[in-house]
Amino acid sequence: MENQNVKNYKCPCCGSQLFFDAASGNLHCNSCKNDFSTETMQQLEEAGAAEVENKYDWEAYTPREFGGVEADGFNGYSCPSCGAEVIGDDTMAATICPYCGNSEIIKKQFEGALRPDLILPFRITKEQAFNSFELACKEAPFLPKEFKKNSKIDKMTGVYVPFWLYDCKCRANINFSAERVSSWSDSKYDYVKTDYYRIIRAGTIDFEKIPVDGSKKADDAYMDALEPFDYSAAVPFDPVYLSGFLADKYDVSEKESEPRANSRVKKSTEAAFAETVRGYMAVMPTSSAVSFSDGKVRYGLLPVWMLNIKYKDLIYQYAINGQTGKTVGRYPICKRRRAAFFSGVLAASFAVCFCAAKILGLF
Ligand SMILES: [Zn+2]
Ligand SMILES: [Zn+2]
Repeated sequence: MENQNVKNYKCPCCGSQLFFDAASGNLHCNSCKNDFSTETMQQLEEAGAAEVENKYDWEAYTPREFGGVEADGFNGYSCPSCGAEVIGDDTMAATICPYCGNSEIIKKQFEGALRPDLILPFRITKEQAFNSFELACKEAPFLPKEFKKNSKIDKMTGVYVPFWLYDCKCRANINFSAERVSSWSDSKYDYVKTDYYRIIRAGTIDFEKIPVDGSKKADDAYMDALEPFDYSAAVPFDPVYLSGFLADKYDVSEKESEPRANSRVKKSTEAAFAETVRGYMAVMPTSSAVSFSDGKVRYGLLPVWMLNIKYKDLIYQYAINGQTGKTVGRYPICKRRRAAFFSGVLAASFAVCFCAAKILGLF
């Protein structure tokens, strides 16, 4: 019996029926001429039977109120210019809106803020944050001179930005396609051989404190750019950390943030599993099923220094990571300085041409 028909095994490359080849002990495909060991086919079958759907299981979040005494001395503040609603204590002498720089913000009763679970305390002072900003300014090309004069440290506000932090245990089945290319030559021909692989990875990975920003006021792009934060420095919330700072209230619920958390977990899992596929070229995930269990969500506050600078009727906003001093923002450009620079470059390159021409003996 040379070509015994093997039950239901289909060629993973072309889908044709596979036959057992007694001579090699492998399964052989008559259409595409590939050979597969029975072991490989069994592994493929198991991978096919594994979960193929994503399952996300987050526990319901229970909002917590501030205790009566705890919130004594807290005020609400609202900004008539941009609509921001923040909280702060009585130590805030002059309050500037962290989101638009308006200084006419209205003090009102403290209400409607929920108690955070975790807080990352500020690690750098206002002076250090302003130094970081000034250093970033030095690197901004063609920054107008007057802009620097408008940037004042007393316009800077420390604000705790609300974040949702997700923990979960994650199980995943991820398939990758990959290639290995080898080439050689003999006296007549150059040869290129491409081997195609299907790589199966299954395993578990735990995530802790995956952040998703919970404020509509804080620009997502800014907040993403401010990372990384050192989440190991997170401590259980205590109102004492708010002294001298403002805190924003979340206006994107944990439910609304879930899709962003899900996609972050899925992407991070795929990246971690892809890291284990080494020694191949063109590694591509072909299917991935990620499921979580023990999904926990906590409400946290992250420290950010905010600075708004008005220049030529526009507001330039800067956010500075309150732990690391990393500065994020867009800078105005002085057209005159830029024009002067480029005419300088042109003159210089013209001079180079002139020299080259001279050497060639054209002049
Ligand atoms: Zn085949
Ligand atoms: Zn405002």
